[in-house]
Amino acid sequence: MCDDHQKPIAASDTPAFFGVDRYGFPEAGEHPLDPPEYYPPYFWSERFQKLGYHVEELRDGFYWVTSGGYDAAFVVTSEGVIAIDAPPTLGENMLAAIEDVTEKKVTHVIYSHWHTDHIGAAVIFGPDVEIIAHDITMELLERFPDPFRPLPTITFADHYSLTVGGVTLELDYKGENHCPGNIFIYAPAQKVLTVIDILSPGSATFMHCDASQNITAWYEAQHQIMEYDFDFLVAGHHMKYGTPELVKEGIEYFGDVLEGAQLAIDKYSPSDRLIDILLKPGLDRFWVGTENWINSMANYATKHVLEKKTSNGKLWSERLAGVTTQTKYHAYTVLESIRLERPRPNYRKRGENPPPFHA
Ligand SMILES: [Zn+2]
Ligand SMILES: [Zn+2]
Repeated sequence: MCDDHQKPIAASDTPAFFGVDRYGFPEAGEHPLDPPEYYPPYFWSERFQKLGYHVEELRDGFYWVTSGGYDAAFVVTSEGVIAIDAPPTLGENMLAAIEDVTEKKVTHVIYSHWHTDHIGAAVIFGPDVEIIAHDITMELLERFPDPFRPLPTITFADHYSLTVGGVTLELDYKGENHCPGNIFIYAPAQKVLTVIDILSPGSATFMHCDASQNITAWYEAQHQIMEYDFDFLVAGHHMKYGTPELVKEGIEYFGDVLEGAQLAIDKYSPSDRLIDILLKPGLDRFWVGTENWINSMANYATKHVLEKKTSNGKLWSERLAGVTTQTKYHAYTVLESIRLERPRPNYRKRGENPPPFHA
């Protein structure tokens, strides 16, 4: 057996805890440049560099606003403005962006989900707004109060249709994914869908599947996005809004992560292989063996994704930003989700494969 994966990773290797050098990944500073198309023109503008935000009308009064790292949205209607989220990194720039395009006041606020990095500046809209969110978002904000995230005034379980000044938004809950209470917000007239923290258009997405909780459902949500008739996706991150094309690209990338993770489990988790890896550092170093086993799988899955020729013949690092830094974290999270959330093909039968420590 090739035993290069058996070596414990030294503390000095952190944060590259999956052994970055082993597969010839670049050292810090030597990563490939992000694909140039990742950066939209506004990013290089003096205005953006100075103000720290960019606002753009996607269609018919539906605006996208971004700090470059965090995205939110608002809709201008004849009776007031509907705001969707209020990330602290935008903060009062969200108000500035609204004032750039209208004199109307914000009358309604929608919380996509309860995470403070997306709604933690909601207090800027003042006390006289209706706040719409999922029941679970309400429950979590009541349990963990935050003056910067005022409690919703309207909540729903499955569906809520909001019409303000002739503009309608359809809010749907399809079950937990990134976190419990994360909703789909659809503007049918404008064909704009807002779903936060499922995919980050043009990039490999923030590590550990954007710190998501239910990874199997998070994968499902990617496909649920494609069930909508949309031209624009407000996704929450990073540089740009999504198009169906960019969403499909993200789905393909995470499909390859899932494929690599499953192959890694198939290779390293059959009982005899697993026992071999666990015992190698010695019976009295059980946790070293455990880490080696997980590292072996994460390394294998990462290598699979980084070396794969994708559907257009290019490597993922040539198509998406952040691939060489984020993939190993996704690999770990996704293979763990396979072990925890997806059906297991078999189980130990009575008397089969006695524990190795008694062999
Ligand atoms: Zn989130
Ligand atoms: Zn996010």
